Amino acid sequence: MLNKVLPDYKEIHSSYYAFAVQHYGGDDMMMADKEGYFDKVLWQKAAEMCLHGLPVDKAIGGRSYSAMQTCAAFEGFAKGCKNNGLVFSIAAHAAACTIPLNLYGNESQKADILPKLAQGKVIAANAITELNAGSNVYEMETVAVREGDDYFINGNKSYITNAPVAAYILLYCMTDVTKGFFGGVSAFLLPAMAEGLVRGAIRSKMGLRTTPMSDLTLANVHAPKEALLGKEGAGAMIFNESMVWEKAIMCAMNLGQLERVYEQTIAYCKKRKIKGKSLIALTNIAHALADVKVVINAARGLVYDAAYAIDSNSKEALQKSSIAKCFVTENAVKCIQKMQTMYGAAGYLTENEIEREYRDVYAALMYSGTTDIQRNIIIGHSNL
Ligand SMILES: Cc1cc2nc3c(=O)[nH]c(=O)nc-3n(C[C@H](O)[C@H](O)[C@H](O)COP(=O)(O)OP(=O)(O)OC[C@H]3O[C@@H](n4cnc5c(N)ncnc54)[C@H](O)[C@@H]3O)c2cc1C
Repeated sequence: MLNKVLPDYKEIHSSYYAFAVQHYGGDDMMMADKEGYFDKVLWQKAAEMCLHGLPVDKAIGGRSYSAMQTCAAFEGFAKGCKNNGLVFSIAAHAAACTIPLNLYGNESQKADILPKLAQGKVIAANAITELNAGSNVYEMETVAVREGDDYFINGNKSYITNAPVAAYILLYCMTDVTKGFFGGVSAFLLPAMAEGLVRGAIRSKMGLRTTPMSDLTLANVHAPKEALLGKEGAGAMIFNESMVWEKAIMCAMNLGQLERVYEQTIAYCKKRKIKGKSLIALTNIAHALADVKVVINAARGLVYDAAYAIDSNSKEALQKSSIAKCFVTENAVKCIQKMQTMYGAAGYLTENEIEREYRDVYAALMYSGTTDIQRNIIIGHSNL
């Protein structure tokens, strides 16, 4: 079925998978994970496959990929790349920074900044969450005050992926508190070195430890009106659109990780013997692995259904990306946890990959909006 709507699915998936296995598959992740090491060389290597800007025009460093093709690339890459934190960093940069810039950037932003983002030459971060405005993002307190053609921004942002290493921040803040979230929020593309923009210390996380995260403080940061992405007041619309892409791409990434863990666990269960019999000969183990395969196929259907909706400019894209996010993330977490138990005590040791895989996938329940928020979106767009 998928091959009918995306004839090059297998080709894209397998080429990104092969690239990732060749350049990232053999990495020993234990030290990098322990030290929270973000590898800029590996980040840059992914540019050979245009991963930082796949939907961008070929002429400026992308591949002019559709959302479906982009998801196929991330699914294959994530299956082959054991460094889940690095894939997450690239996906966040591509989905929430490169893509909105490609869609809404002005001429000068597109000429000067888009090629650098699309080719992974610089790193970008998107900043909307605040300590008191996460799920309730409409209550954000960061404000840009306009003085003629200039804005001055004050506030704080929290949990910002890539912020410690970013050259650009795509910042969402209020420009008109009387209008609320829709109409009152604007998006600014700011240099991370802007005066008054201060990054906090790197946050230590349970998983995805190879992706750097920090908070941001903005004290009277100057932004000329040319730094606006889209028009003043268009921030909520730009953010929502970028989240639809992000959810589809992140779910494709979660799916790729799940495929890898599934194959590794099957190999382990075939090899590991108890009373002379392979683990996989036990019905409970075999059935639990069959259940993972069911999830993989169902998840793939939902990811590409969401991506197809993006490509068709369908009004259902928001709901479909939330449906994919609910199903894929919650089931990827459950499946990887279940597979971890198949390793017995060995699965609990940090020297074995499965323990890190579980810590890494767990973050999917939170980023791009928690699954509670996805359920609110699903029911809110059900036209009941
Ligand atoms: C690894 C990681 C990377 C991230 N990267 C970024 C980034 O790059 N940029 C960025 O801006 N943010 C980022 N975030 C922040 C993320 O978007 C928020 O953590 C998320 O939106 C939840 O907000 P919160 O943490 O404030 O939780 P809260 O909003 O405080 O939620 C707490 C709990 O209450 C529930 N809840 C809250 N409101 C509702 C409601 N209305 N209905 C039902 N349940 C509700 C939630 O589901 C959750 O269980 C990242 C987070 C993580 C974990």
